[in-house]
Amino acid sequence: MLKRCSVASHCLGIESTADDFSVGILSFEGKVLANVISAYVPEKGGIHPREAARHHAEVAGKVLAEAFQRAGVKPQEIDVVAFSQGPGLGPCLRTGATAARALASYLGVPLVGVNHCVAHIEIGKLVAGAVDPVTLYVSGGNTIVSAFEAGRYRVFGETLDIAVGNCLDVFAREAGLHGREGMPLGAMVEQLASRGQTLIPLPYTVKGMDLSFSGFLTAAVQLLRKGKHSLEDLCFSLQEVAFSMLTEVTERALAHTEKSEVLLTGGVAANKRLQSMLESVAEEHNARFCVVPKQYALDNGAMIAWTGILAYQHHVTLPLEKSFVKLKWRLDEVPVLWVGG
Ligand code: AMP
Ligand code: MG
Repeated sequence: MLKRCSVASHCLGIESTADDFSVGILSFEGKVLANVISAYVPEKGGIHPREAARHHAEVAGKVLAEAFQRAGVKPQEIDVVAFSQGPGLGPCLRTGATAARALASYLGVPLVGVNHCVAHIEIGKLVAGAVDPVTLYVSGGNTIVSAFEAGRYRVFGETLDIAVGNCLDVFAREAGLHGREGMPLGAMVEQLASRGQTLIPLPYTVKGMDLSFSGFLTAAVQLLRKGKHSLEDLCFSLQEVAFSMLTEVTERALAHTEKSEVLLTGGVAANKRLQSMLESVAEEHNARFCVVPKQYALDNGAMIAWTGILAYQHHVTLPLEKSFVKLKWRLDEVPVLWVGG
């Protein structure tokens, strides 16, 4: 038997698509009561999916307990459990899904499968106050320009190969930098870039409305290995060229849709240079610029819980037997029933 909604309803959301395991607890009114994030930082190299999944399994109990404690909510007061069903890395997604299924069936409450990219947009709208924005979502795994149109978040432009965050991370590792909790590689590139002065030419690849970063990354790494330029100038050029590409595509989506807001989200949204480029484009089009605060811009459980609430209120739930993860679940495949109705 499923539990009936109590007066003060709560949703618990689990995020585990890649390197972060996170649990958020929100009231149905949209109050964030807890948003606990545990990041997996590889000792060497990029994210190994099975290593990241092992981290998630190890910290899951602790992160859940801390979320309940911070929220001041008992497990019995949870009315819905949501989890990121995709897109993401298989082993990581499955670890979060297993925790979500176990919790939902133990508590006897409905389960909601949330699209990770939709969640980034919805939490952005909640915390940055956007209503109907053009969204630039830039992270370690995704680079997407989207806007709501005819029942879905349509993809206006996206990367054809690697994500911009991944591009910055690979370059930084090639340069011998090591990320740590609280200081991601992208932030290190930003620090170095602030001391750069000379713009070094790099391939600028915008194809129609889509972007490509792999040739750009190869060219930057080759320049790095030649050792002719300072790391500061290389980081500066990397940011200027990559962020100009992102800004161009976002501007064209804005001009086409004539929306009145630009929303910047994802881990790379923390970058001040990217923020200022987008802000000036938004200004030129008389659009309001909204940037999602860091704790809600990077992968987090609060965004999963909030999107779970929106979906649940529109009768979207997921039977346990159909709750398999979807590694390649696209943003524009999801019917967004709660917008524009
Ligand atoms: P996410 O995938 O949303 O968890 O975000 C992680 C990505 O954001 C990684 O690629 C980070 O290097 C990147 N990132 C974090 N802070 C910054 C920053 N200040 N500038 C650029 N990229 C950043
Ligand atoms: Mg992450």
